[in-house]
Amino acid sequence: MYKDTNCGEPRESAVGSQITVAGWVHRRRDHGNLIFIDLRDRSGLLQIVFNPEYSQTAHDLAGSLRSEWVVQITGKVVRRLPGAENPDLPTGAVELSATDLVVLNRALTPPFEIADDIEVDENTRLKYRFIDLRRPRMQRALKLRHEVTHIMWDFLTAKGFTQVETPILIKSTPEGARDYVVPSRIHPGEFYALPQSPQQLKQLLMVSGLERYFQIARCFRDEDLRADRQPEHTQLDFEMSFVHQDDVMAIVEELYSRIVHETVPDGTISAPFVRLTYAESMDRFGTDKPDLRFGMELSTVTEIAARSDARVFQSVASSGGSIRGFIAPGCGNYGRRQTDELTEFAKQSGAQGLVFIALDESAESIEKLEDDHIKSPLKKFLSVEIVRELATKMGAGPGDLMLIVAGANRLVNTVLSNLRNEMARRLEFVDEKHFAFAWIYDFPLFDWDEDLKKWEPAHHVFSSPKPEHMQYLDTDPGKVLANLFDLVCNGSEMGSGSIRIHDRDLQARMFSIIGYTEDQISERFGQLLTAFSYGAPPHGGMGLGLDRLVAILVGEQAIREVIAFPKTQSAVDPLFEAPSPITDQQLEELHVRVVMPRS
Ligand code: ASP
Repeated sequence: MYKDTNCGEPRESAVGSQITVAGWVHRRRDHGNLIFIDLRDRSGLLQIVFNPEYSQTAHDLAGSLRSEWVVQITGKVVRRLPGAENPDLPTGAVELSATDLVVLNRALTPPFEIADDIEVDENTRLKYRFIDLRRPRMQRALKLRHEVTHIMWDFLTAKGFTQVETPILIKSTPEGARDYVVPSRIHPGEFYALPQSPQQLKQLLMVSGLERYFQIARCFRDEDLRADRQPEHTQLDFEMSFVHQDDVMAIVEELYSRIVHETVPDGTISAPFVRLTYAESMDRFGTDKPDLRFGMELSTVTEIAARSDARVFQSVASSGGSIRGFIAPGCGNYGRRQTDELTEFAKQSGAQGLVFIALDESAESIEKLEDDHIKSPLKKFLSVEIVRELATKMGAGPGDLMLIVAGANRLVNTVLSNLRNEMARRLEFVDEKHFAFAWIYDFPLFDWDEDLKKWEPAHHVFSSPKPEHMQYLDTDPGKVLANLFDLVCNGSEMGSGSIRIHDRDLQARMFSIIGYTEDQISERFGQLLTAFSYGAPPHGGMGLGLDRLVAILVGEQAIREVIAFPKTQSAVDPLFEAPSPITDQQLEELHVRVVMPRS
């Protein structure tokens, strides 16, 4: 070994001992005769002092050290002089008085400093990812990611799950996104697809009698990269036989509680996880990914607002839209600049506008509200009685601000749920160390695709309808709810799962409801239908995003921050410069010809 001690280890108890450390020169400072360096390895920093009295040679060589050079140093651990201790550093009470220095490698000046919270553009970070990953924050994220998967392996193994690797080169298994495809050299004109998830494979493993499967699986989806998506992501994929929805949820609840407790010891969690039906979540929060760390729930005031003289309210109500809103507590004194900012925010989410009604805190109560207590751009169209009714319905008191949006139902929900999160951020209602997990269940089985004018599976085509809704499958598919559930945490979707269809005929019927032809069914799903004819047990499972989970645990906004080698927003890897053209010879071997798009 090049070292017998890690840089982050020595404490006062080590004073007097002779040690050898190795790592990267983090910083060098020359103080007259003495040269100091902070030496860094994965465990932390150690201050080294080169004193010519102890070794002239080491001191001379130390003068030439530069940032990020790789060195090995031997010396004696000494107590720092009084006043020179660094309480911010775990090793801050001591330093290493060097007697030997070996330069193991030199380094070019790095393109950016190895420190957290530096301003570097993303492309540069990703091009030099091997240096970026030296930053403590990135090291911490990668280690925590490892810990999380370690806990998953441990926990699931103890619960009788078997880890199975499923192929990366498979056949297209449509799950809603576009496939990445790989041309076959041996079979000209034929292609493999990379799995969007191991969905069909894990269901086949249930038919095989495995009963409990899991995999930390890579999933590939060729989507237009919306915010914070990656072409490949990792998920904890699992499947269980002979289970109901509650059994699947219970396993995840136990596992995720353990992950939070073990990886974020000062983190808190709401147990048991909250359960909301999809309908309830939409009604109370305007989204199926509610952040439950704060209140500010939505209220529907269509009927009350429509009785006011405000035209916009009347016309939205008569055209079947909705008027909804929530209370920003204590914001009744917001000035023009603040309300303008919120209006701009609402418009960016698609709203036509945002209606404010501010209630002055001098009002004694809502019952005693007077005209003077009310401030609103729509004030002349709102009687005091209507404002009182609105306030009562929405739960507003003196000093509060009512935020109201009118429009098509879906839009109103989107705007208000975004605005609710924004208000929570502004009001600092968000506790970064609280993990508010919730189950959203009873999703509709289908979504109506307005462009294609047909029903699409809301999740994927393998989820089962609730038995009591089977009667609407052909007549009114929009009414059918599914045994389909999502796990959400702090406003993000953590994963989806369902109890699957295990009956061959029902699965075939589902395919045809969403418009697959007989040929498409047998071509894409023949293997599954055949397997279902040979004794498929009832089964269900989930796919839970690992990247998002780790991001939430370490407090990062973007999943790129917890993936070792991610792609940019335009699906490019600046380090390897992928994607890239391949040689003509490779193309020929693959029987592929490139036709560039006309620009
Ligand atoms: N395969 C699904 C997905 O990746 C998850 C599941 O239903 O298990 O979203």
